[in-house]
Amino acid sequence: MRRNKEQLKNILYQLDGRSYKTYNDIKGEFDFEKFMVLIDHVQGDPFARPSRIRVRVNQSIAQFPVDTFHNHSRATALRDFLARCFFQASRKFARGNDSRGTGHSGIIRIEKPGQEILERSSVLINNNFVEARFVMGLPAFGRRIAGQHAVAMFLDELPRIVQHSMVYNNLNKNELYKHIETSEDADYLRKKLETLKIVTFIADDAILPRASGIDPRPLTTGNVIPFKSPADYQVEVELPNKGTITGMGIPRGITLIVGGGYHGKSTLLRAIEGGVYNHIPGDGREFVVTHPDAVKIRAMDGRNIEKVNISPFITNLPFGTDTKAFSTENASGSTSQAANIIEAVEIGAGLLLIDEDTSATNFMIRDHRMQELIAKDKEPITPFIDKARQLFEELGVSTILVIGGSGDYFSVADQVMGMKDYLPIDMTQTAHQIAEKYKTERKHEGGDSFGTITERIPVKESFDPSRGRKMVKIAGKGLHTIIFGTYTINISDLEQLVDMGQTRAIGDAIHYSTNYMKEDRTLKEIAQKVLSDIREKGFEILDRIPSGEYVLFRKFELAGAINRLRSIKMKQK
Ligand code: ADP
Ligand code: MG
Repeated sequence: MRRNKEQLKNILYQLDGRSYKTYNDIKGEFDFEKFMVLIDHVQGDPFARPSRIRVRVNQSIAQFPVDTFHNHSRATALRDFLARCFFQASRKFARGNDSRGTGHSGIIRIEKPGQEILERSSVLINNNFVEARFVMGLPAFGRRIAGQHAVAMFLDELPRIVQHSMVYNNLNKNELYKHIETSEDADYLRKKLETLKIVTFIADDAILPRASGIDPRPLTTGNVIPFKSPADYQVEVELPNKGTITGMGIPRGITLIVGGGYHGKSTLLRAIEGGVYNHIPGDGREFVVTHPDAVKIRAMDGRNIEKVNISPFITNLPFGTDTKAFSTENASGSTSQAANIIEAVEIGAGLLLIDEDTSATNFMIRDHRMQELIAKDKEPITPFIDKARQLFEELGVSTILVIGGSGDYFSVADQVMGMKDYLPIDMTQTAHQIAEKYKTERKHEGGDSFGTITERIPVKESFDPSRGRKMVKIAGKGLHTIIFGTYTINISDLEQLVDMGQTRAIGDAIHYSTNYMKEDRTLKEIAQKVLSDIREKGFEILDRIPSGEYVLFRKFELAGAINRLRSIKMKQK
């Protein structure tokens, strides 16, 4: 039964001073004339997770022009933009919990978006309505309902927030269109990479460095050097909105980024990693765009590994340990990096991004002298240098590698980019001449072909989301941790995760993915199915109650989190 806002007001006055659980009376739909309020979930006490609320504004009032959401790319960007507007408006118009009671009392909050334009569950739009999903801390002093405050929140603050963030005519149209067009251009550019025969594009004038290691906004202080492409790698693209732009296109194959310490190598690689997502206007990386199947690879000693065929990189471990189905609770640097690569390729990675700063040295290189000292039959590791070309030629997997420390790599590289004073220089020819002149006597190791990628089948019974009396206990904690039942999954080495909403969504998606664990379905198939379900049916599949707290993630990070669940059991296909 639908009630109106006067009725909500009366109920809230009646509830004033009563016990918290009587707030349940306001569950349901309320007609506020200009919009609908849907109270989907009422928290159990003022300290519990705040209540989940939706607001729906009819398009007859919201009036978003069709061209702001007529394709997927624009709709995603518009939704992202509106989430930002709602966030700003709630900051401005919600009084918050200042002397409004205990715990979360008084808050009206939508998830805060960062530098990326992402598909978010917090705002939906279609031809009929625009909907925002957010939370409110229903106010109380201790366990006594603060009815007056609740009335102010619902009947005064909320309407102002809605008015200022969900009605087209009240928004900054220049900013809105800029947001949409920038994102549409980035999507277009990403689709275009294939025809341009490049794996990533870094626009001229892009700003790559970030404000700090913990602040992803662009660097603005000191000398900030805008990106400039070297002539031989300059590519020109015509974008649907912005028109023609130029930038550096990195071709497929093996690319080295070399150069002196502190000259911007890692900064360039991180921008490339982030190029799987679109960025907001003003970020500096709006037109730094990378192939969507690019995966950052690093070492992460201590992680668990379950039945991964790491034999292309690692054989002959002490005591005859099987590396065709390698399992450990405590990987070394090199075995973790090998597993990270194999797992990424297993799911369909087409581009690996590797930085020497976060790699295991013995995984990257074994030089001539070391080959002489330790014979191959005593060394389990075949270093990446001997596998990079095979990965590309046999499996079509390209690599971009930051390596300032080993010239042996010149011999396997298609392109060598030097970073000097934060600017790239094409050094391919010089590097190849040096490789000719100073022949390295190191011998190729690890055989004539890459070896086998073995797909794996997750065993459903090894996923148990229960904890104590709770049948399902799943939560995202920050960006890097997922609570799954009694297990804590550490995903801090999945460096392309950018939004806590992705972490949350992945946690629930792991649980959802168990629906598909039957008939020998592989992890790759399962991850693809989960993603296509979200695409077709929306984030609703992840939770019983509509939630505004989800952000879209990639199959690589979903599989990555599953691989790091310590209870996981796999079978090989
Ligand atoms: P490298 O990996 O070559 O050692 P980094 O990429 O870590 O170097 O960069 C070193 C420092 O220079 C970082 O603090 C980074 O923010 C800064 N930096 C990188 N690129 C630029 C740039 N284009 N303009 C100004 N500072 C930059
Ligand atoms: Mg570095």
